[in-house]
Amino acid sequence: MKIRGSKDIKMDSSFAEEIAKRSGENVFLCYQCKKCASGCPSRMFMDSTPTELMRYIQLGMVDEAMKGNTIWYCLSCQTCSARCPQDIDIAHVVDTIKIIVQEKKIKADTKNVRLFNRFWMTMLKYMGRMYEVGLAGGVNLLTGHPFKDMALAMKMLKKGKLKLLPSIKKPFETMKMFSRAKRLKK
Ligand code: SF4
Ligand code: SF4
Repeated sequence: MKIRGSKDIKMDSSFAEEIAKRSGENVFLCYQCKKCASGCPSRMFMDSTPTELMRYIQLGMVDEAMKGNTIWYCLSCQTCSARCPQDIDIAHVVDTIKIIVQEKKIKADTKNVRLFNRFWMTMLKYMGRMYEVGLAGGVNLLTGHPFKDMALAMKMLKKGKLKLLPSIKKPFETMKMFSRAKRLKK
C-alpha cells in the first residue's frame, strides 16, 4: 500500500508480523516512550533512532526500516532492550532486520556503514569492548571528516561520559570467540 499523496512511502502491513514472527518480539507493544532512543550510544550516527525504527516496523514502512543506516550503526549493546518498559528486545529486532536485509540482498543507502561496522567489529575483537573515542575518531578520519563532532566529544569528555583511553577487557576471550565463529561459518 502507498500513502495517499506520497510517491515515496510504501507500506507493507505484513512487515510487522514477519518481524514479530522471526524475532519473537511483539513490536506492537511499543508506545513510543523514547527510552530506547535516549540511551542509545549510536543514535547520533543513525538515520532514525531505535524508537523511530519501531514505528516504521509497526506502520510497515519497509524501506525506511531496512534501507537506512540505523540497523548497521547498532552496536548490539542491549541498552535499548534493558530500558524498554514493555520488555521488547529491540536489539534482537534490529538483528532480525539485519538478517532479512542480508537474505534479500538489500543495499544500505549509506556507503560509510560497512566501514563503521568493520571498525567496530575489529575493536571488539582486539579490545573486548567498545572504545567510543577510537571508533568515532577512526571513522571520521577515514571518511575525510576528522573534526566532526569534536565539540560534542570535548563536552562529553569533560563530563566523564567518554573515556580518552580504551579499557581493554579479556581480549583473548573475544579473539577466541571470533575464530570459533569463523570456523563455524566455514
Ligand atoms: S542495541 Fe543498538 S539500537 Fe539498542 S541501544 Fe545499543 S546501539 Fe542502540
Ligand atoms: S523503549 Fe520500548 S516502548 Fe519505549 S519507544 Fe523504545 S521500544 Fe517503544
